[in-house]
Amino acid sequence: MVASENLAGGEPARQEQKTHKAGRFAPSPTGDLHLGNLRTAILAEAWARATGRRFLLRVEDLDRVRSGSTERQLEQLTALGITWDEEPLIQSTRGQAHDDVLKRLMDGGYLFECYCSRKDIREASSAPHAIPGHYPGTCLHLSDDEREERRVFLASQGRVPALRLNAPAASWQVHDELHGDFEGPVDHVVLRRNDGAIAYNLAVVVDDAFQGVDQVVRGDDLLMQSPAQSCLASLLGYAEPVYVHVPLAINANGARLAKRDGAVTLPDLEDLGYGTTDVVRWISNSLGVLSGPPPENTKDLLALLDEKTLRAMPTKPWIIEAIHR
Ligand code: GLU
Repeated sequence: MVASENLAGGEPARQEQKTHKAGRFAPSPTGDLHLGNLRTAILAEAWARATGRRFLLRVEDLDRVRSGSTERQLEQLTALGITWDEEPLIQSTRGQAHDDVLKRLMDGGYLFECYCSRKDIREASSAPHAIPGHYPGTCLHLSDDEREERRVFLASQGRVPALRLNAPAASWQVHDELHGDFEGPVDHVVLRRNDGAIAYNLAVVVDDAFQGVDQVVRGDDLLMQSPAQSCLASLLGYAEPVYVHVPLAINANGARLAKRDGAVTLPDLEDLGYGTTDVVRWISNSLGVLSGPPPENTKDLLALLDEKTLRAMPTKPWIIEAIHR
């Protein structure tokens, strides 16, 4: 879809690649990558390579960064045999570009200040006619005096108002290679948080466009965010990416895989005597689309994953039953 209005015109894509197709993997450096992350990384490279795209990496280090984690994650991806075609983009170096886009949106009238606390939102969104989990629109219709009063109150607590998107559409359709056409609410997503930090939903859109990314492969927990992100891309005059939301790894209780599930990272598995060959084998078997003996390294696995095979991949999660302890 294309927004009927947009704010086209901004920074040029990196190395004039706007037409140069690319896929990417964009981990947050919050700790070592677990099996689910590693599987998503392999699938992201597989989709990019199988569709004739370049493959890029972006370190999403705006939030909750654990010291040393960026270097460790890059080492782990290298150990697994993932290769990328450019220096990784470190998101925290992109502050000026993020601020510029925020200003363009503000000048265009597409942002509004939100003074709500989490509790305010929780309470208002549980009202009878509200959409659960969605921003209830509390701060959209305040008078100037009410805004000023709330600004002063937040300032007294050392906070600033969050900035939310006032999008020109209530819902948006994206295309996902595994989920088909997917339409969902745009919601009034936060683009700058009330601690002043740039929010994920802004940074991801601006930086994908900058890197020339036109294929976004990531965990399917983010499928619901894609309509807002795609709408924002269109509003900014960027090409909207095609999506591939791949299933997550979960534990036997159905919860998203986490460190507490045992040895789920390369260093922990290594301590138990498992290496990258085992991990590639497990990941190959988990995809549910390959027959014959599983490959022993990522290069061989990528060679087996052509576009047709990737498209046939089931969307059910990868259940990691017993963690190899
Ligand atoms: N950095 C996000 C994460 O690690 C992924 C964002 C994305 O791929 O859009 O969960």
